[in-house]
Amino acid sequence: MESKQIVGRRKTLGTAEANIQELISKMTLEEKIALTIGRDFWSTNGVERLGIAPISLNDGPHGVRKPAASSEIGIGSSFAATCFPTANTLACSWDTALVEEVGEALGEECLTLDVQVLLGPGVNIKRTPLGGRCFEYYSEDPVLAGEMGCAYVNGVQSKGIGTSLKHYACNNQEFERMSVSVEVDQRTLREIYLPAFERVVRKAQPWTVMCAYNKVNGVYASEHTQLLHDILKQEWGFEGVIVSDWGAVNEKEKALEAGLDLQMPGYPGDHTAKMARLVRDGQLSETVIDEAATRVLRMMLLGNENRRPEFVFEPDAHHVLARKAAAESLVLLKNTDNVLPLQVEQPRSVALIGRFAKQPRYQGAGSSQVVPTRLDTSYDELQQWLGDKVHTTYADGYDEEGLLDEALLHEAVEQAKAADIALIFAGLPGAYESEGYDRKHLYMPEGHNRLITEVCQVQPNTIVILHNGGAVAMPWIEGPKAILEAGLGGQAVGGAVVDILSGKVNPSGKLAETFPARIQDTPAYLNYPGEANKVYYGERLFVGYRYYDKKAMKPLFPFGYGLSYTTFEYTGLHINKTEMNARETLDVTVTVHNKGPRAGKEVIQLYVQSLTSQFSRPNKELKAFAKVALEPGESKDVLMTLEDRDFQIYDDERQTWRMEGGEYNILIGSSSETILLSERVTANEDPRSMAPLFNRLSPVKQFLKYPKARELVTHAFAGIPRAALFLGEDEMFTSMPIAKMVVLGILTDEKVDTLIQQANQASSI
Ligand code: BGC
Repeated sequence: MESKQIVGRRKTLGTAEANIQELISKMTLEEKIALTIGRDFWSTNGVERLGIAPISLNDGPHGVRKPAASSEIGIGSSFAATCFPTANTLACSWDTALVEEVGEALGEECLTLDVQVLLGPGVNIKRTPLGGRCFEYYSEDPVLAGEMGCAYVNGVQSKGIGTSLKHYACNNQEFERMSVSVEVDQRTLREIYLPAFERVVRKAQPWTVMCAYNKVNGVYASEHTQLLHDILKQEWGFEGVIVSDWGAVNEKEKALEAGLDLQMPGYPGDHTAKMARLVRDGQLSETVIDEAATRVLRMMLLGNENRRPEFVFEPDAHHVLARKAAAESLVLLKNTDNVLPLQVEQPRSVALIGRFAKQPRYQGAGSSQVVPTRLDTSYDELQQWLGDKVHTTYADGYDEEGLLDEALLHEAVEQAKAADIALIFAGLPGAYESEGYDRKHLYMPEGHNRLITEVCQVQPNTIVILHNGGAVAMPWIEGPKAILEAGLGGQAVGGAVVDILSGKVNPSGKLAETFPARIQDTPAYLNYPGEANKVYYGERLFVGYRYYDKKAMKPLFPFGYGLSYTTFEYTGLHINKTEMNARETLDVTVTVHNKGPRAGKEVIQLYVQSLTSQFSRPNKELKAFAKVALEPGESKDVLMTLEDRDFQIYDDERQTWRMEGGEYNILIGSSSETILLSERVTANEDPRSMAPLFNRLSPVKQFLKYPKARELVTHAFAGIPRAALFLGEDEMFTSMPIAKMVVLGILTDEKVDTLIQQANQASSI
């Protein structure tokens, strides 16, 4: 049996913990304040007098970016480190063990480079495919993003290196990211935008959480008491440091009071003196400083304790891992006539087309940009694999920027025509997706699109390999026989592409985001990018497949979709109970069988569907998944365990999670569109969470629904002829708020209040 459970690992401080309070008590106010702000770009302030050394926090997430000097931003000039696939790509592996392994390797590189905290993972939800940083985020789904985030944190932190869960919260677009206010209702926040953060905090305890630049409902994330103090620290029990995104602090004292612990990077001017003045003038409590300083100090002691200056990571082994990680994450989108894997037994000629064959796009731009230890190209790897058996030609196909160049296009088409097979390497050029700005549209450049269209007209055996950090439109989709989505596959992507094309690795990646047919179809289309510095999340919960499902719209490729060179059969769905109660778990097992002649891996997806909800709910939601490896002919039982939370909605009125009583389907699918098995379960609501709430706006019918409340209202209306109408069935009368009874002369204001008070008391008994 294989299970989806990830066991969280908590780092303890060992000998250092006992010292903390004593050290804090020895510090001056100024020394404590200095702990709450960076020394420069990448390090904290130490307290030399007490022998406390500074520590370094560096980007992240898919490789270590450590500039030679801590005073430099250093994009493009950092020490070499392994560039693993970016989050959007790695998430397509749906393989938590693999992500943990990558995390371990990243942790080792941090040890070598003397980095104590790695700034990742990013678990924000992909609300729109136009988000410039979609490549740095895992998914449109909070369970997938959260599980990936847990695995990353567990992997890195197992090496004694801290992580930074970012960007908390609602950093879902780059447009005006430093000032825009995300206007989002509480239920959507709780069910879509926060759960990935919550899962990682509760299950893996990252050392730090990085707050976002943007505002949430009018308040900067860095000053958001509800997000930082109430939810993150109090409700989820976060034990680490809340660090600002670089430059996200606007008013430091407000941020500290809201729960921020560390402002990064360092700030010009005498920040410490200013804060000390505020404390001495009684405008800022010293307890707030102590709380932040204690958390930062704990992290610094731990970071220093875990330093291993003698450790040297193995670049070759990490490169091999980067190749494996990419190969497991590539998604085969189309494979007509089983044109892949390529057969090279007979002498053949292959036209290699597109600059990306020689200069792959393998990572995104901005703060996450790694200087790789080496870079494999598909061109070299293919030459190596094909050797002398096959005649190859090469054409650039488009210019440096991806623009159309008639001469280059013509050359490519001629070569394609003369060959048996054409492999086109295309996608999005670097300038199309970056931190700091959003994409303008879903299209690849004209030079790439025309190239694919025209080559397909002359060459029936065309295979397209895409390098891109997010969904793209494919107006040429009917043309090629096969399409391989290679994402931003890291420094070893060239080898990984050949592993898939050659069949050495059977593709097992599945899309972690929907590929829409057109931008007009996307959930946020009418509410993006916002105006007057506000963006309304008007589509509410209906993000990604939740939207396409509800609108019965067919995307280009659905969430969770990906092909294999073998076929799988799902049978024997079994649930260990048919009734689910609060605080219980439900075991779901399913048998997966590899029917084909090749070994392969399958991603099994479990969705929960509510059939009887009183609330507006998505048709179904991913709640668990598992990836299994199967030899030809082999079968395995897969176990996935659900918790009551997997059935719950966030009840805005009661401000609490609630498992609605009613009927649910447990759906097992090979993608969000292909549901293969289903079982029914009845959930019993916890009576405590069901207690009705009455206020002045509650309609009369709300009172009539509950026996005790009905009794109270009947009693209050007794002897008033006009009131009889309100005790009947007529919707026109019974839907009136109870407070309106005052205007109608049926009740006084005082009587309404007493009635509400008594009804609330009665219903909660
Ligand atoms: C980014 C963060 C990054 C930080 C440090 C910010 O601009 O949003 O993700 O970790 O810079 O480079």
